[in-house]
Amino acid sequence: AKERDGNNFQFFSSEMNIKVLERMMLENSMRKALEREDLFLLYQPQVDTRTGEITGLEALLRWRHPDMGVIVPDKFIYLAEETGLIIPIGEWVLRTACFQAKAWQQQGFPPMRMAVNLSAKQFAQKDLSGTIAAILLESGLDPDWLELEITESTIMKDPDSNTRMLQKLKDMGISLAIDDFGTGYSSLSYLKHFPINRLKIDRMFVRDIAINPDDAAIVEIIISMAHTLKLSVTAEGVETRPLMEFLASRNCVEMQGYLFSRPVTAEEITTILENGLKY
Ligand code: C2E
Ligand code: CA
Ligand code: CA
Ligand code: CA
Repeated sequence: AKERDGNNFQFFSSEMNIKVLERMMLENSMRKALEREDLFLLYQPQVDTRTGEITGLEALLRWRHPDMGVIVPDKFIYLAEETGLIIPIGEWVLRTACFQAKAWQQQGFPPMRMAVNLSAKQFAQKDLSGTIAAILLESGLDPDWLELEITESTIMKDPDSNTRMLQKLKDMGISLAIDDFGTGYSSLSYLKHFPINRLKIDRMFVRDIAINPDDAAIVEIIISMAHTLKLSVTAEGVETRPLMEFLASRNCVEMQGYLFSRPVTAEEITTILENGLKY
């Protein structure tokens, strides 16, 4: 038995070493990615379904890895958070998105919101508002056109201090959206006090509207709650026309999802802006 335990221990420990090694390699190549500009952004339209106009774009991060190809954020954001690399990466995202938004405006396209995702670590930085102010100044983008997406769970990590940060950002003229709404645990009493502009209904609820009456009910409640609190509401993960129709019939106007467009490069967005969105 002793021997077997020993083997087990060795098995686990070598497995752990591989994990540690993998992490170190990933962290290392993430640092290099930032230096070598292997990161890039895709943009996904947010659509006013009454008019078919694009009212906003969400910037979504990608990593072009030299050996592994394009890596999606779910595979590396957590590690970027753990190592603190999310701070410079997040700053790069904000800067790139703001400059791109300004570029489209200068090309004469009607202005659209540029929505940028913020991680908990970024949000906990005291000088976040200063960093963002500097980026807005550098890029020349009017703060009205920047929207920050923050999850419920990020805010609820420290609701009082985070509410103060939200207020500071809002006072700068930036708009604020709660991302993945419905998946976290923010109480309604908090929600009322958050200085936010928009709720984004999580894809998880939207996806199953047609097959799960509970999800349909949750989505209806979120929409009417947003309206009661005078917040805008965006449904994410809208993949089909019936989903769009269900949401529209419940007075949800703004939607985002594969039905309208997948996340695409800035060049592809330019083409869409020139020709209009087809769905
Ligand atoms: P999210 O903020 O909830 O972003 C929406 C995700 O849903 C994106 O995944 C998008 O590609 C995907 N999506 C959009 N429409 C549809 C649809 O109709 N069907 C389906 N199945 N999926 C759809 P993506 O780009 O892989 O991003 C995943 C998550 O990574 C994001 O979730 C966000 O939390 C995070 N993320 C992305 N970019 C950044 C960033 O720059 N900074 C930070 N901190 N997090 C980011
Ligand atoms: Ca988001
Ligand atoms: Ca989301
Ligand atoms: Ca999500």
